[in-house]
Amino acid sequence: MPYTGRFAPSPTGPLHFGSLVAAVASYCDAKANQGNWLVRIEDLDKPREVKGAAETILRSLEIFGFEWDGKTVYQSKRAELYAEALTALQNKNLIYPCTCTRKEIADSSTKLGIDGVIYPKTCLHWPVKPDLPYSQRIQTNVSEITFIDAIQGEIKQILSKQVGDFVLKRADGLFAYQLAVVVDDDAQGVTNILRGADLLDSTPRQIYLQQRLNLPTPHYAHVPVACNLADEKLSKQTLAEPIDTRLSGQLICNALSFLGQQPPFEIKNADLNDIWHWAIANWALTKVPKLRQIQLT
Ligand code: GLU
Ligand code: ZN
Repeated sequence: MPYTGRFAPSPTGPLHFGSLVAAVASYCDAKANQGNWLVRIEDLDKPREVKGAAETILRSLEIFGFEWDGKTVYQSKRAELYAEALTALQNKNLIYPCTCTRKEIADSSTKLGIDGVIYPKTCLHWPVKPDLPYSQRIQTNVSEITFIDAIQGEIKQILSKQVGDFVLKRADGLFAYQLAVVVDDDAQGVTNILRGADLLDSTPRQIYLQQRLNLPTPHYAHVPVACNLADEKLSKQTLAEPIDTRLSGQLICNALSFLGQQPPFEIKNADLNDIWHWAIANWALTKVPKLRQIQLT
């Protein structure tokens, strides 16, 4: 399989330094391995989408000199593929409908997992009221998932204890990120995933789905996430500043430094071509700090 990497932003706001870091990491690693690099807009959650954000992100990537292969893929247009995967899992009797509201789950659950309370399987044990909208959950009976992250090392999770039966399709009809990302990474032939360490806890769920769907597991590397002084991940919610495209060269160098690469001082004022040339020729995954987050000062 030829190396294929990707950058998969959600269009919830313009590109900020945190997302630039993920883009730079996946781009340099792909190019340093003579690989392809794809861009996928993760616009599944239409209610959370900010109008025009996808175009702004793509325009910023162009200005920064990123060159991607093939057409940009939009998740909002791929519901059929996700539905097929869900059917395949249903045929294996792994899926059950759930009509519980958030409040009902909070009131009935007794265990806390890494992503909130663990769903107590109420709807698996008692049949659901058929006229209510329902989500679709996958069973996670004692599934221990282990993988080696190229930066963070060995990661182990027992899904049933730490996550519980998770939602693949929401009651409002939208497919969940966990399912869509697995289907798309496979459909696009992605072999290497470099992304922010905020997604490290999601990776075992994705590997579990790959295993149940008989799909290969790509190589994973989770880079540190940029945080503000309050230790919050940079995002639209924490009011991260959008990236200033006039400072493209400097910001790429800052992202490289953040990733433990050591761009020479002179290169900061060089033109974008020279910066990318340096970045790809000198890219060293081994230099990326083994941290889940780094505070920007
Ligand atoms: N769309 C996700 C985000 O912006 C990234 C998904 C991924 O890289 O797997 O956080
Ligand atoms: Zn339920």
